[in-house]
Amino acid sequence: MLTIPDYRLRLPGPTAVPERVRQATALPVLNHRGAEFKAMLTECQQRLKPIFGTAHDILLFAGSGTAMMEAALANVLSPGDAVLIIVAGQFGDRFVSIGKALGAAIDTIDVEWGGALDAQRVAERLKQRTYRAVVMVHNESSTGVAYDVAAVGAVVRDTPALLIVDSVSGLAGIEMKMDAWGADIVVSASQKSLMCAPGIGLAAVSAKAWKAIDRDGRVPSFFADFRRARASLEKDGTPFTPPVTLVYGLLEALHMIDEEGLANVLKRHSRLAAALRAGVQALGLELYNRPDISSATVVSMKVPQGLEGGAIVQHLRERYRTVIAGARHPSQTGKVIRIGTMGMVSETDIITDLRHLEATLKDLGRPAPAPHAGVRAALDALAVSA
Ligand SMILES: *Cc1c(COP(=O)(O)O)cnc(C)c1O
Repeated sequence: MLTIPDYRLRLPGPTAVPERVRQATALPVLNHRGAEFKAMLTECQQRLKPIFGTAHDILLFAGSGTAMMEAALANVLSPGDAVLIIVAGQFGDRFVSIGKALGAAIDTIDVEWGGALDAQRVAERLKQRTYRAVVMVHNESSTGVAYDVAAVGAVVRDTPALLIVDSVSGLAGIEMKMDAWGADIVVSASQKSLMCAPGIGLAAVSAKAWKAIDRDGRVPSFFADFRRARASLEKDGTPFTPPVTLVYGLLEALHMIDEEGLANVLKRHSRLAAALRAGVQALGLELYNRPDISSATVVSMKVPQGLEGGAIVQHLRERYRTVIAGARHPSQTGKVIRIGTMGMVSETDIITDLRHLEATLKDLGRPAPAPHAGVRAALDALAVSA
């Protein structure tokens, strides 16, 4: 059997899958249109709604997060429709590529990577042109910033435009209040804060978005047509075969979230991310992003002068079995490393990350300012937030 011992998966997704969730996915496959599985799908829906902060339908697809980013756009666009995309990192950039592929007329609001967004910039652009949708990334995993969806929702809400939000790496790790904040389509996926294996894509859809989806003349799509998914949902099903065993896993993960309590889950994420940030800064690493807008699900830091990000990632993996992420976008290559703080992460994980990072930096010729500086700073941060 394939096993990889001593492997610490500490990426900003996919995240380590808790044993309970992993075992759930080993249960026998059921008839995906039978009563037993339909009950599970319905329960997933019910448990997901408070996490999305919505009373609306949540659609479930086989697919990764990107499939849902594409589906969100494809379901509302007609060829040539104008879309305003907020680009603050790699995933904003990916939305631009998807929009182009779908034949949209794309305008962007370019935010300095790691920097803040002023929602007034969105308001001004909405006065100049009619957009089918404004698109934003809630939690920009490439830079470590969580953006204020409520602020953007407030300026989009009373315009004809829809607000499409990628919360793939945010949902279940940072607060999402889709209905209250005025988001129209929120997409996510199973393998980030939802601490499940990769393969399930999710989309929650507002009444305003359904109006756009229900009109004729949209760009062609079949598999990910939200109308087909809604029709099946009315019968507690999915239009095509869903990843049955992953749904078991998702359901188990949702049970775990409810047992801990969503508010406690979110608090744990922000507390552990703050401790990790304190630790890496004490090791002499600068945050990649503006600190006051830091994400609670990923910590993104600059690689010290003279070192190469890829070398740190490689050494951490080979010598210490801690698997973190480097840069994914060409503009960041070698300059950034990222550690996930999403999903089933504990204090012990954060302390171990910092031990391994300190040892790695030392091995690469950059010893910490003082022994255990990172661990100490993290423990201090945890003590004040306990
Ligand atoms: C991980 C991620 C995605 C989706 O990536 P997939 O590999 O397609 O699942 C989308 N947006 C953000 C912000 C992400 O972090």
